[in-house]
Amino acid sequence: MENPEQEQKMDPRANSGLYLASHGHVRKIEPRTTAAQLYKVRSQSNKDIVYSVLCKSNGEISCDCEDFKRRGVTCKHIYAVAFTI
Ligand SMILES: [Zn+2]
Repeated sequence: MENPEQEQKMDPRANSGLYLASHGHVRKIEPRTTAAQLYKVRSQSNKDIVYSVLCKSNGEISCDCEDFKRRGVTCKHIYAVAFTI
C-alpha cells in the first residue's frame, strides 16, 4: 500500500511540529545566559508532559524526548520551536 508519492510529502514530525507551534504549545524560557535558548514544548497527547528544547548559540539543537534521544532525528518538538521562531 506504499505510495511513492507520499515520500514527497511533509515529514509527519514537521506536521506535528506545525500543529504544536500553531496551538500555543511552545513557550520561550527567558535565558540565563546568551549561550543557549531554552524552549518548553507541551506534549500534544498529554498536557502534563513538557519537553525541553535547547538551542545553542553554535546552532546545535537538542530535545529531551525519546524520539530525539533514541533516534537522533529532528523531532516534532524541534520542528515546533523552528516554526515558532
Ligand atoms: Zn522532542
